[in-house]
Amino acid sequence: MNIETYLEVLRKEVANYQVPVVDLIAVQTKDPFKVLVATILSARTKDEVTAEASERLFKQGGTVEDLAKIDVATLEKIIFPVGFYKNKAKYLAALPDKLAADFGSKVPNTMEGLLTLPGVGRKTANLVLAQAFGIPAICVDTHVHRIMNIWGYVETKTPEQTEMALRKKLPEKYWILVNSLLVAFGQGTCRPVGPHCDRCVLAESCLRRGVKPRKPRKTGKSNEVLRLVSWNVNGLRAVFKKGFMESLVEMAPDVLGLQEIKATVEQLPTELQSLPGYHSFFYSADRKGYSGVVTYTKEKPENVIRGIGDSRFDSEGRVLTLEFSNYFFINCYFPNSKHDLSRLDFKHDFNVRLQEFAEELAVIKSVVICGDFNVAHKEIDLANPRQNRKNAGFTPEECAWMDDFTAAGWIDSFRMKNKEPDQYSWWSYRSRARERNIGWRIDYHCVDKKSRKRIVDVDILQHIHGSDHCPVVLDFTR
Ligand code: SF4
Repeated sequence: MNIETYLEVLRKEVANYQVPVVDLIAVQTKDPFKVLVATILSARTKDEVTAEASERLFKQGGTVEDLAKIDVATLEKIIFPVGFYKNKAKYLAALPDKLAADFGSKVPNTMEGLLTLPGVGRKTANLVLAQAFGIPAICVDTHVHRIMNIWGYVETKTPEQTEMALRKKLPEKYWILVNSLLVAFGQGTCRPVGPHCDRCVLAESCLRRGVKPRKPRKTGKSNEVLRLVSWNVNGLRAVFKKGFMESLVEMAPDVLGLQEIKATVEQLPTELQSLPGYHSFFYSADRKGYSGVVTYTKEKPENVIRGIGDSRFDSEGRVLTLEFSNYFFINCYFPNSKHDLSRLDFKHDFNVRLQEFAEELAVIKSVVICGDFNVAHKEIDLANPRQNRKNAGFTPEECAWMDDFTAAGWIDSFRMKNKEPDQYSWWSYRSRARERNIGWRIDYHCVDKKSRKRIVDVDILQHIHGSDHCPVVLDFTR
């Protein structure tokens, strides 16, 4: 490969991508102190979160002197929810004294000096040298390390090894630039999970070392098959601003069940109130900004059932059922048992009632229950089962209900077709969990036992962003 050609192609390609947050702060402020602080905040944190936390912090602590006046507890509150915010608050609290004692309250412009500062490792130091001082330095983060190995330009196991390898072979004129290019490219196209090789400008020559091929998008699906899609959008207004209409084209659903819409119909933009090409059915919670589901369908249903006949659950807008000629589509947002498990009993009662409701319908015709079940059923369905055994969504009680539910004949359509690990539909916003694929599979399409043969295919659209969940797909015979 010719690295210069690759990087020049990418220079043009990423010109319209979102600029990585630290670069943006460097360009906007030209202030080494702000670049240093933003870089410390950015470790293991999404750019949007870093940008907001930096903005809040700079209002009160935008200089060394002002930062010195803020105590650790206040810093924690200001920078939350950046990853490892408690540790970072401690580092930031210690920073002014260290800078005052050793560097005259200025940010040092050497690797050695930067590495003595609290919370600063080689990656941070390189980024500060490059972005704040324009000194040739190669900041190797996860994207640079990963993509350089995918291209076969280096063969290394750790970011540190990649930095050393690049220092030997990468032309110096690219040292500063390479981080910005590959972070933007890694966030936009060559993503850690499901890289977009299908639309990549380097697709023809890239070696794709270690890349798990993305499933080809299913186009031209048969008229005999319905595409049923479920997605917990975690706020429909928010996801709309993050490219929902483009995602809709890609998902191409016949029926789309969205959960946790957090809005009443009047609060939504007109495109969502009545989605073009679809019939729209809403069921919102009594409480504003909470829970709620909507189902969009190309075919007009014969009947619509709101709720499951129990006001404890129905006031929360959790279950919306559409009846078609030969199946019921139940769009369901199961309760979360909560961090302190205070809603475990409530959730269990809901589960039991929902199952009764679905079983009554299954006597009449096929039933598909889609939605955020708020439980990972088996160890294969989450990245860290042992650490989460007592946590909401993977407690023995919640898994036991899922055992009972499937023992009663309900089929988890995804597991019927796919036994692979690392298949997740939800990731915490913290600690770059999605980028590292530390996730949970808690979104399902479950089908009554008599309808097993109607399950054609399943998919999890991990590349579709906009929520902390991604859409899940069931192709179901008409
Ligand atoms: S072809 Fe695929 S693996 Fe290679 S750079 Fe492009 S997105 Fe990444």
